[in-house]
Amino acid sequence: MLEIKNLHARIAEDGTEIIRGLNLTVKNGEVAAIMGPNGSGKSTLSYILTGREDYEVTEGDILYNGESILEMDTSERAASGIFLAFQYPVEIPGVATMQFLKVAMNEQRKANGEDELTTPEFIRRVRAAAGELKIDMDMLKRPLNVGFSGGEKKRAEILQMALLEPKLCVLDETDSGLDIDALKVVSDGVNALRSPDRAIVVITHYQRLLEHIVPDTVHVLYQGRVIKSGDKSLAQVLETNGYAEIIEDAA
Ligand code: ADP
Ligand code: MG
Ligand code: MG
Repeated sequence: MLEIKNLHARIAEDGTEIIRGLNLTVKNGEVAAIMGPNGSGKSTLSYILTGREDYEVTEGDILYNGESILEMDTSERAASGIFLAFQYPVEIPGVATMQFLKVAMNEQRKANGEDELTTPEFIRRVRAAAGELKIDMDMLKRPLNVGFSGGEKKRAEILQMALLEPKLCVLDETDSGLDIDALKVVSDGVNALRSPDRAIVVITHYQRLLEHIVPDTVHVLYQGRVIKSGDKSLAQVLETNGYAEIIEDAA
């Protein structure tokens, strides 16, 4: 589903190279974890996948279902089923969360040549997904993310993901700022989206999340490159030994 080949990318504004020859393959149905020390380029990678214009790809390619996405803009990528749950969800004053969800769902449907959802059908879907994530419908009347707690923001991200049913889900440190109960709810929400025709990329600093969302593969990102890949046991090794040994081996 996702094949990143020798990717090099830099910050558009000042030319600093952040991604430096990154290779990664994620198959249909797979849950891949990306781990790595702070500043290794995890969030940057997620932004580049969604086509953020602050970054320029200078070399290599990103294939999604066998085709390069580099020429696609952010909305085209979203319409094709790529979704990013942000590390720091953006507050959107003046737009009620419900309204935001409705526009997002209908824009996606329009891009795929489908009719708009009727209001009752839209509400039925939101109610069902919000229930799973233990989100109060009253919260959805408030402006998106404005004044939401850390846990509420992360739940709202997963709610969007559940409603948009993307094919490639990228979750950037969804566990940060969550207490243990919220972590469980959010993880259950992500696990419910596991499916043979969907790939999920979980970016995390900590092994804790991976006890709830058990990955098929684990990749260590360091200085803009994948320096080691393995199965879920690699996450445990990292938790016990830290990154130092793997970084030394890679050097
Ligand atoms: P991670 O998510 O792994 O902690 P990031 O992708 O956020 O790492 O950052 C990787 C490196 O790139 C850091 O040194 C960060 O400061 C730098 N960086 C990323 N984006 C920008 C930007 N837009 N402007 C300046 N520095 C950036
Ligand atoms: Mg960071
Ligand atoms: Mg980050």
